[in-house]
Amino acid sequence: MSNVNKILVIGAGIAGPAACYWLRRFGFSPVLVERSASLRKGGHALDVRGVAIDLVKRMGIYQKIYNMRTQLEFGRHVDPEGNTLHEEKGERFGFREGQDVEIIRSDLVEILIDSIEGVPLQFNQTIESVKQTDAVVEVQFKDGRTEHFDLVIGADGLHSTTRRIVFDKHEYKLNDLGAYFSVFSIPNYLNLNNTEVQCEANQKLLSITSDKNRKMAEVAFSFRGQNVLNNVRDESEQRRVLRDTFQDFGWEAPRILELMSDSDDFYSDSFTQVIMKSWTKGRVALLGDAAYSASPISGQGNNLALVGAYVLAGELKQAGGNYKRAFDRYNEILRPFIEANQKLGVLVNESFLVRDEVSKEVAEERSNNIMEQVKIASNMIVLQDYANPH
Ligand SMILES: Cc1cc2nc3c(=O)[nH]c(=O)nc-3n(C[C@H](O)[C@H](O)[C@H](O)COP(=O)(O)OP(=O)(O)OC[C@H]3O[C@@H](n4cnc5c(N)ncnc54)[C@H](O)[C@@H]3O)c2cc1C
Repeated sequence: MSNVNKILVIGAGIAGPAACYWLRRFGFSPVLVERSASLRKGGHALDVRGVAIDLVKRMGIYQKIYNMRTQLEFGRHVDPEGNTLHEEKGERFGFREGQDVEIIRSDLVEILIDSIEGVPLQFNQTIESVKQTDAVVEVQFKDGRTEHFDLVIGADGLHSTTRRIVFDKHEYKLNDLGAYFSVFSIPNYLNLNNTEVQCEANQKLLSITSDKNRKMAEVAFSFRGQNVLNNVRDESEQRRVLRDTFQDFGWEAPRILELMSDSDDFYSDSFTQVIMKSWTKGRVALLGDAAYSASPISGQGNNLALVGAYVLAGELKQAGGNYKRAFDRYNEILRPFIEANQKLGVLVNESFLVRDEVSKEVAEERSNNIMEQVKIASNMIVLQDYANPH
């Protein structure tokens, strides 16, 4: 093997474990650290689609994902009085077709973590500083320990500490799309049965879904706004702003906001994209949301993370550990795919959370258009077979 072997991967979300899977398979020794005390709960369902389907098959986890998939039968649109406007089949409602699958985020994380059994994983751990020389990266951890790695991969999400520590401010741009979302679970008091019900009015959207677990329902709120939170990551402020924004929304909002007090899996963030000219610097590479978040509204965050992890690890293998060459190729090969999906994020963001009432015709046209664009963007890369090169 090359002189690159020991690789620190920061963040046990989607991108981090996927990178560890491929790095180990390609002969490297990854070490994973996660800031939280355990795998993070919370999060809505994510779609695995396009080229990512082929990837999870190559990882041998497609069947597991399929078995744990959500099984929505219907998506219903209602007005703020609760009257049904129209209904769609579950798959179409989620812009899925063919072998595309939807899975709850925490289930996907668990499947990925299971696939890297034996890779060292430390919870409650993060980095304090990163010093690079030509030969090595010296990382100081939160617990005061210092360790040397050949490479560091920052897969620590939208608010990446790795990005903040390693890159200068002018090397990345956070493109705020002007909206927020919050997700959490509540008891399924509406007795929904494999159904999602969505109410969109006045630039706000509330959806309630109950799927396999009939006892619980997943709630998602989103709304337009810019800089409405002093600290976008302060959970008590996120909850307060959500209450203020939706108290007069109508439909089920008041009841759900009451139930929110008991939720222990609340997650909220802004719709923000990360724009960078280069996702690597020296011996450090960024991956997933940390590098190129397309925002949750794109519905493509996990697919970008899965594909990015594969390309990064595959290029390191292909370059025999020549990380400079591999990082250049990673930047080059992935860029059109990322740009197409960030463009998709902007399009979906502009299509939802609108001012006017969404009629059946408007919803259908929007759905057709997004469906077509999702298909294009999610397939906008041809993946090499790094495991079996010709
Ligand atoms: C709890 C949660 C819920 C989410 N819910 C949704 C959702 O409902 N819909 C949606 O579209 N997207 C959601 N996302 C984002 C989605 O997971 C990502 O867009 C996508 O899957 C890309 O994954 P990622 O691994 O790059 O980032 P993420 O999935 O955000 O994972 C990043 C990981 O890094 C960890 N981390 C952060 N900072 C540090 C640090 N300094 N040191 C060590 N570890 C760190 C985080 O705890 C997290 O486990 C959610 C993310 C999280 C963390």
